[in-house]
Amino acid sequence: MILKVLERVRKIGGDGVRVVAVSKYVDAAAVAQLAQEGQLEFGENKVQDLVAKKNELKSLNLSWHFIGRLQSNKINQLLSANPTMWQSCESVQKALAVDARLTCELPTLLQINSADEDSKQGFSLHSACDAWHEIGEKCKNIKLLGVMSIGAHSDEKSAVVASFEATRRLFDDLSGAKICSMGMSGDFEIALKCGSNMLRLGSILFK
Ligand SMILES: *Cc1c(COP(=O)(O)O)cnc(C)c1O
Repeated sequence: MILKVLERVRKIGGDGVRVVAVSKYVDAAAVAQLAQEGQLEFGENKVQDLVAKKNELKSLNLSWHFIGRLQSNKINQLLSANPTMWQSCESVQKALAVDARLTCELPTLLQINSADEDSKQGFSLHSACDAWHEIGEKCKNIKLLGVMSIGAHSDEKSAVVASFEATRRLFDDLSGAKICSMGMSGDFEIALKCGSNMLRLGSILFK
């Protein structure tokens, strides 16, 4: 199953696209199964689930990305799991709070609310650039690597494309940005065409 998906990814995005398998719907056994097929990067949107699966699968040496809302009272728990990446930094204040507890660098992406939806977390397109510089100046151990965005929630393909294109334009404007994380199971091919270089795929990999 994953090979078929990876083939579709490669066809549009080439070999340089990183795929993070979002395991929030499945248990550790399903993660281990996918790891056996060669998938080594996983994502979770709840701190306790990331910590539990990482512990359960310690022997497999997997990478874990945090992609959800980080509550202030869960920061220590997340950092104790030493995640590979924090993809969902949604405010300068949260970045400062995390940085204050870090003792080594944490690769981080700014979450962008690219379609300006009330239901979503993240920086607006117009505030992200200032935040990028402010976090870069004030946070010693937050290592900003790029942006993460969820495509517009819409049946109109044009709206989804517009949200991805706007995120990609922002990414191109951020000095030193290397990772443009956009595209999920339902829209990853569109995201790749718009310049994504990291996908977060859940349901399509685990059904
Ligand atoms: C759940 C989730 C995904 C994966 O969603 P699928 O549609 O199942 O591929 C990707 N990114 C984030 C932030 C998520 O919460």
